Amino acid sequence: QAKLLDVKDLKITFRSQDTVVTAVTGVSFHLNQGETLGIVGESGCGKSVTSLSVMRLLPQATANIEGNINFCGQDLLTLAESELYNIRGNQISMIFQEPMTSLNPVYTIGKQIDEAIMLHRKMSAREARVLTIEVLKKVGIPRAEDIAKEYPYQLSGGMRQRVMIAMALVCQPKLLIADEPTTALDVTIQSQILNLLRQLRQETGTSIIMITHDLGVVAEMCERVVVMYAGQIVEEADVVSLFRQPKHPYTIGLMESIPQLNKKVDRLVPIPGQVPPLTNMPPGCRFAPRCQHAMKQCLTNNPSLLPVTEGRSCRCWLYGKGGETDGAK
Ligand code: SF4
Ligand code: MG
Repeated sequence: QAKLLDVKDLKITFRSQDTVVTAVTGVSFHLNQGETLGIVGESGCGKSVTSLSVMRLLPQATANIEGNINFCGQDLLTLAESELYNIRGNQISMIFQEPMTSLNPVYTIGKQIDEAIMLHRKMSAREARVLTIEVLKKVGIPRAEDIAKEYPYQLSGGMRQRVMIAMALVCQPKLLIADEPTTALDVTIQSQILNLLRQLRQETGTSIIMITHDLGVVAEMCERVVVMYAGQIVEEADVVSLFRQPKHPYTIGLMESIPQLNKKVDRLVPIPGQVPPLTNMPPGCRFAPRCQHAMKQCLTNNPSLLPVTEGRSCRCWLYGKGGETDGAK
């Protein structure tokens, strides 16, 4: 299978005054053509930072990115800003949790989509408007001609997210990065939006990276998933085997703490404790302070992400050997 995106050994640090904190380290993953990959974890685990780095949207003054981000044969980290400009919104698009913040409040919906089209395609304003109406219909917006004349505040949250998806899709991106696109929406609207994304994926063949804290969304949307914790990948698997048998204690915790529609759970068990702050990472396994299975070696040695079975890997001393430091006893 052809790889669309291949991220290798990503390390992201932020500099502030006289300190440097590491937000993400040793992160490697890939995305096949046409695939939907989930990146899952609680907030503060580095999911959004990782995806923003793919778009090179992190603040240049404070963020430093190391590693490789190979997209369609070119390393995005080595491209000049002018070359990136061609890729953003054209080959890679992004949708976020709160569309209100990414839509311009002073322009009508139609004008914003027209402009996105004209920015990336050679089209007149009139041609662009025709296409705008077409995409608005495509994302299930009723009375598209009327809605195009409205302002963002006049629409519901679900409608605004449809507009964002329309905007992301006008340029037929090869990759769509969706960062918690349904988190702010109620359950009914959430499933409508997920249905829409699935349908569009089928029609367009767009590859998707789905960033979410919700394993339910992963189950509905994704073929493969990477689980992130405290700036590292702790587990990678295809979705079927992940749900059949989650391996990392953090993944197991996420499954127990997230309501699943098709599963009756008596009681949701939140994972005790919190994601450690970037400025104070545990010296051993980063999940150790919250892990029921923590052993002595976990407190001093951070395990490596290692293959456990075909296509699966896990970062935990419970599975096999081989840490980042030797002599773990
Ligand atoms: Fe828990 Fe140890 Fe595995 Fe970390 S390495 S998840 S502390 S058992
Ligand atoms: Mg986030």
